Amino acid sequence: MTRLETTVERNYQSVCERIAAAATRAGRSADDVKLVAVTKYAEVEWVRALVNLGVTELGENRPQQLQERAELIAGPVHWHLIGHLQRNKVRRMLPTVSLIHSVDSVRLLAEIEKQASELQLESRVLLEVNLTGEEQKHGFRADDLAAQWGDVIKARGVRIEGLMAMAAYSDNPDDARPVFKRLRELRDQLAVRSPSDMPLAQLSMGMTGDFEIAIEEGATLVRIGSALWDGL
Ligand SMILES: *Cc1c(COP(=O)(O)O)cnc(C)c1O
Repeated sequence: MTRLETTVERNYQSVCERIAAAATRAGRSADDVKLVAVTKYAEVEWVRALVNLGVTELGENRPQQLQERAELIAGPVHWHLIGHLQRNKVRRMLPTVSLIHSVDSVRLLAEIEKQASELQLESRVLLEVNLTGEEQKHGFRADDLAAQWGDVIKARGVRIEGLMAMAAYSDNPDDARPVFKRLRELRDQLAVRSPSDMPLAQLSMGMTGDFEIAIEEGATLVRIGSALWDGL
């Protein structure tokens, strides 16, 4: 094995072990937590090394880079868009992307609905919620989302599978816990007001600095970049 392969494998194993340990602590099964490997800082070769280890879920925050990388990375991979999507990029994105984590307005949701219908695709999305009040962050405000929920659940041809959030940056992972807990509680409240085929099962929360806390609070998708590329 090359040094690159050894390093990627060691990082990946360490992340998997930490995911499993956090799940166990929370009385959950590690199988209920899926790793989305965030590749935005990674060279294509590093991503290939990770895919060779069996990782299938890859995430990018920029639509353009997701598109370019989807063409360069072969294999049975699914792409996750985790950053802001402009409405004029929806049509190009839909055929490539497996799950959009970052739907942050009813207008964007409506555009996805329209384009998915024209392309005859069913698209899968999560709704991003801004729970920290930081102005530079995208996402629905929790009270706006609750107020608009009646309109949101009318979307056709779009499967709304759950919610996504980011905690504020902090050196102390425990600072993120209240944010993750609020996302879970918001999901529980909205699920009660949703059709039975829309259980909002997915909670996308947790990054390198705070994914263990997120798993303890119910994350089903963790978006991890830096920890996978450590030492490269
Ligand atoms: C970059 C990014 C991540 C991964 O961040 P790391 O700290 O490198 O794990 C997760 N989610 C989003 C939305 C990102 O933009």
